[in-house]
Amino acid sequence: MQDKQILVVEDEEDILELVSFNLKKQGYQVKGVTSGEEALQEARRKIPSLIILDLMLPGVDGFDVCKSLKNDPRTKAVPIVMLTARSEEADIVIGLELGADDYLTKPFSPRELIARVRAILRRSKADISDQEILQSAIDVCIVDAEDKNIEVQLTCPKDFFVYVNGPLLEQAIINLVMNSIKYSDEESKVLVDAGLENGGTVISVKDFGVGIAAEHLPRLFERFYRSDKARSRKLGGTGLGLSIVKHIVQVHEGNVTVDSTPGKGAIFSIHLPGSQVN
Ligand code: CA
Repeated sequence: MQDKQILVVEDEEDILELVSFNLKKQGYQVKGVTSGEEALQEARRKIPSLIILDLMLPGVDGFDVCKSLKNDPRTKAVPIVMLTARSEEADIVIGLELGADDYLTKPFSPRELIARVRAILRRSKADISDQEILQSAIDVCIVDAEDKNIEVQLTCPKDFFVYVNGPLLEQAIINLVMNSIKYSDEESKVLVDAGLENGGTVISVKDFGVGIAAEHLPRLFERFYRSDKARSRKLGGTGLGLSIVKHIVQVHEGNVTVDSTPGKGAIFSIHLPGSQVN
């Protein structure tokens, strides 16, 4: 039995049961509640290691719970993973702005749930380096990469730190790597590189896949924009991933760019102000 206590807040009983069951199976102690009011009470009675919070709750909703916990000095450090419907990108952005640390869109697999929970509990222990954030992001994508025999390579200076919201930046990297995997052929490669540039930090994700035609590049980060509708439908996906990357990078006062040669691949780069090499 682990000493990690996870509070799960979800009014849909079957989801609450599914999440609780899978967390318990991993040895976590789980407390489940079905309303925002109970969530606030429970979080203050016994401060949990992590909270999984459905946003759509009757009465006090998930946004209110998140805001309230993040404004309370006793609970503000507790990581919050939001549960959202896949179509509610605006909710994700509002939740992240209120201080939530990560999110899962329904329906999610038990594997995805456990990977996120582990990653968050690991990184909430201490300040972590850029390299650890990137490695942790790649770990989340590894099953999808292996499905297509794609190798994901990380190049990052050791002891390289950047002042970021680790969980958020990790999510942005996950979205970029997943996007690259999706548009790459089998047996291909995805390269993740981090380094210094003009006093700032650049993290790039490069693939050798189908690439993106020039006319699509300016709109690629717009919500639901799809450069190739037929292909996107076939491969699945929500059309939200890149738009979320843009929001996350903006929270860090950075910007994200993309360059591509159709048929040869694409490179996405996150530019962040500031860096520190210890
Ligand atoms: Ca709900």
